[in-house]
Amino acid sequence: PHWVENGLNALLCTCSRNTMSISRCEQEVPEYFNFASDVLDKWSQIEKEQKGPSNPALWWINGKGDETKWGFEELGFLSQKAANVLSGPCGLQRGDRVLVILPRIPEWWLLNVACMRTGVIIIPGTTQLTAQDICYRLLASKAKCIITTDVLAPAVDSVASKCQFLKTKLIVSESSRAEWLNFSNLLKAAPAVHNCVKTKSQDPMTIYFTSGTTGSPKMVEHSYGSFGLGFFLCGRYWMNLTPSDIMWNMSDTAWVKAAIGSVFGPWFQGTCVFVHAMPQFDPRAILNSLCRYPVTTLCSAPTAYRMLVQHDLTRYAFKALKHCLTGGEPLNPEVMAQWKSQTGLTIYEGYGQTEIGMICANMKGMKIKPGSLGKATPPYDVQIIDENGGVLPPGKEGDIAIKMDAKRPFTFFTRYLDDPVKTASTIRGNFYTTGDRGSMDEDGYIWFIGRSDDVIISSGYRIGPFEIESALIQHPAVVESAVISSPDPIRGEVVKALVVLSPSFKSQDPKKLACELQDHVKKVTAPYKYPRKIEFVQQLPKTITGKIKRNELRNKEWGQI
Ligand code: ATP
Ligand code: MG
Repeated sequence: PHWVENGLNALLCTCSRNTMSISRCEQEVPEYFNFASDVLDKWSQIEKEQKGPSNPALWWINGKGDETKWGFEELGFLSQKAANVLSGPCGLQRGDRVLVILPRIPEWWLLNVACMRTGVIIIPGTTQLTAQDICYRLLASKAKCIITTDVLAPAVDSVASKCQFLKTKLIVSESSRAEWLNFSNLLKAAPAVHNCVKTKSQDPMTIYFTSGTTGSPKMVEHSYGSFGLGFFLCGRYWMNLTPSDIMWNMSDTAWVKAAIGSVFGPWFQGTCVFVHAMPQFDPRAILNSLCRYPVTTLCSAPTAYRMLVQHDLTRYAFKALKHCLTGGEPLNPEVMAQWKSQTGLTIYEGYGQTEIGMICANMKGMKIKPGSLGKATPPYDVQIIDENGGVLPPGKEGDIAIKMDAKRPFTFFTRYLDDPVKTASTIRGNFYTTGDRGSMDEDGYIWFIGRSDDVIISSGYRIGPFEIESALIQHPAVVESAVISSPDPIRGEVVKALVVLSPSFKSQDPKKLACELQDHVKKVTAPYKYPRKIEFVQQLPKTITGKIKRNELRNKEWGQI
């Protein structure tokens, strides 16, 4: 509608002008910035003044008939009340830390905004944590408060006595629990007005744990500016969002992708955040929801797309889907091709990490080169460097790195919490190193080879697992695979593939099938890369985010576990 256009243009022009010039380093990042007061409250104002119909800010369903729809005004109202719960009964002050372990329920969004309003530092945790994990996180982060549901409250109680920093426990539940404050009751009783704290752009806002793909998760601290302003460009250009869009991002609330895809990216643009909460990944339920609800933009992990393309997608008529995104792991070109041929939609891949957000992306309007990460996204200057920090020419493999001029880019994490040595170790000369290997082509597209630790060196050749996994998945027998190194007396190490077979191939002679897969790889990539060893497995070990844990497989293969 007309009013949305007018209001939006006013808001976006300011944000866009500022952020674009900030990203070109023409302007300082504003001294003060708070996403709740500077963005959300503005949207709420626009919504209120124009009184026009619009999409909700949050549209939540659980597939069992429950539904929540909040406009920006209602989100503002409820999150102010929630802020009063945190600073009142919970006794939290600006700078205190709170561990929030919630599934995808509306309260998670409310509490995120309430933390920004109060200056309380939010640490999202996944509901798959055990009592021990929770204890570790409470101690490591020195969190004063924990917020969770009935499901995990007993686990928290079993370790609470060991967590000397923990003062308050807040439960999100219909019923009450001894020694726990009840969020729903307190929310009802809380005062309606809260004055948002004035935060500096560099003030710490959140602590995220990394996915733990290569070891124990690291605590990454981000600021009001790095998240709030940093993801503006991402929502605008990679996600291609406007206020008429409805975005469904499927990632777990605990990962940085939830901040990008379910909070800052869409809400900066006034876009509706859609959530279908389901206890576990259910391809049919997802496909049905895409047919039933006017979701325009979908973001999901490559693993999820790999599972979705196992279904006959031509039987589903999506209601409004027009833009598909993925990231977090490499997307095999074959999966992209299948999704495209069955739905007519391209998948736009992004590459990023908890520490520094989006690094490269395939943007709408850009030529897509399947299998590539796309090009550097603003404000980053991405280069491929050697071990001395020298820039490598196009086509050469090296470390994917970000050029840092005099200043650290404003979108960067502030530090690994309590680990200055690790924080410093990411810097090499004038560059921040991502820990990933890749190359750049003549057109500036970046090609992912693998995490530095995953690269296989066989007879002097360096081989990245992703290319071979992508070759394997082109064969109809392969659902997914993990390629790792395996010890070999002559070559040092050789390529080994662990392959999950599609059901119709499971009864075939494994020896014959292995030879067939080897021939197939030799045909589609340079023959020296073919997997000399193949093992068929039922499933692959994955992180909670769905990433393949190649390091676990590699350790097993080399006899370290
Ligand atoms: P940890 O650092 O704890 O081992 P992690 O690196 O998986 O875990 P995240 O910050 O969630 O934690 O993930 C960032 C990493 O994920 C990147 O450094 C890269 O290795 C990988 N990644 C992200 N997006 C892509 C992509 N599109 N293609 C390939 N790899 C990707
Ligand atoms: Mg990492």
